[in-house]
Amino acid sequence: MGRFHFRRPILPTKAYAALTAKAPLVPFTIERRAPREFDVAIAIKYCGICHSDIHQARDEWGNATFPMVPGHEIAGIVTAVGSGVSKHKVGDQVGVGCFVDSCRTCAQCLAGEEQFCLGGMNFTYNSKEKDGTPSFGGYSQDVVVDENYVLRIPANLPLDAAAPLLCAGITLYSPLNYWKAGPGKKVAIVGMGGLGHIGVKIAVAMGAEVTVLSQSNRKQEDSKRLGASRFFATSDPETFKTLAGQFDLIINTVSADIDWNQYLSLLAPSGTMVVVGVPEKPVPVNAFSLVIGRHSLSGSIIGGIRETQEMLDFCASKGIACDIEVIAADKINEAYERVLKSDVRYRFVIDTATL
Ligand code: NAP
Ligand code: ZN
Ligand code: ZN
Repeated sequence: MGRFHFRRPILPTKAYAALTAKAPLVPFTIERRAPREFDVAIAIKYCGICHSDIHQARDEWGNATFPMVPGHEIAGIVTAVGSGVSKHKVGDQVGVGCFVDSCRTCAQCLAGEEQFCLGGMNFTYNSKEKDGTPSFGGYSQDVVVDENYVLRIPANLPLDAAAPLLCAGITLYSPLNYWKAGPGKKVAIVGMGGLGHIGVKIAVAMGAEVTVLSQSNRKQEDSKRLGASRFFATSDPETFKTLAGQFDLIINTVSADIDWNQYLSLLAPSGTMVVVGVPEKPVPVNAFSLVIGRHSLSGSIIGGIRETQEMLDFCASKGIACDIEVIAADKINEAYERVLKSDVRYRFVIDTATL
């Protein structure tokens, strides 16, 4: 069932696109390719709004290509598979994250760390497919992706709340996993937004003692509900004195201009701060912030396919998914403004039926 070979493109797909960097997103129609031998066709049900969508739709990272259909937190149902597909079948609930292909031959791809592909990844949008056509993201109703880049979403995870795991979830899981967040480890999450809130849940589920550092006290109650043991407002100057030298691991999700030196001072000896938020401008770091206490400053970007699947299975086994606000497509521009004001609890997810 569902295996077919016809060559015409599948029906035009309704989408939302940014036509230029400064314009609001508008309804737009794209075409997806017919599934090839190893392709999976997916009816997208939900797509999360990641802050990276806003950075790219507004060309804040440079080299953006338009029209742009953002969206890399995709959850949906398989509607058809190519004749060679063995990993997914029609009716499965599946996800697609930040990339839809990679070179498959470099050491990183062979190690299952496609996020570091040396040959260049094919990002889900604002990039090109392997065949050179522009890639379009998940603010749309269908997508066709090679089976190796499609994730299984376990049955007990609701598709809407699972969608943001495909970027926010793996972006926090990967460094928490790599730096061994777990029992006996003191972890701080800086910024409790889309990334930060799921980071709190995952770090707590891994057994770490989790502290949230947020701009104000507004999210204090929520942080407790998500399992954090401690919460501090960074607007309070006492916070940096109180917490000096305490954390084994700090995950910094903030993309605004903040003083990283202040946060490095919160590391315990040999502790690491991992940057996952991406500010537009370079951030000056004082050498003393590193040498005193043998502190490390590192970064992390999403995760490979194997680890993303591991994260989804982990979340399913712990009953974890994102806290979301489901919106209709005509609220995307408003949602962007609200994300910029940290006014979302904690991820907007587009119901693609409304496109
Ligand atoms: P988000 O939902 O907007 O969350 C960011 C949080 O940062 C906000 O909720 C807020 O938390 C805090 N914040 C905002 N403005 C601030 C300011 N002026 N000073 C201090 N804190 C501030 O965004 P997101 O989707 O989580 O993404 C965060 C960043 O990560 C973006 O730059 C995004 O592009 C990047 N990202 C990176 C990767 C990766 O692989 N490395 C993957 C996805 C996204 P409080 O209200 O708690 O202060
Ligand atoms: Zn993202
Ligand atoms: Zn590669």
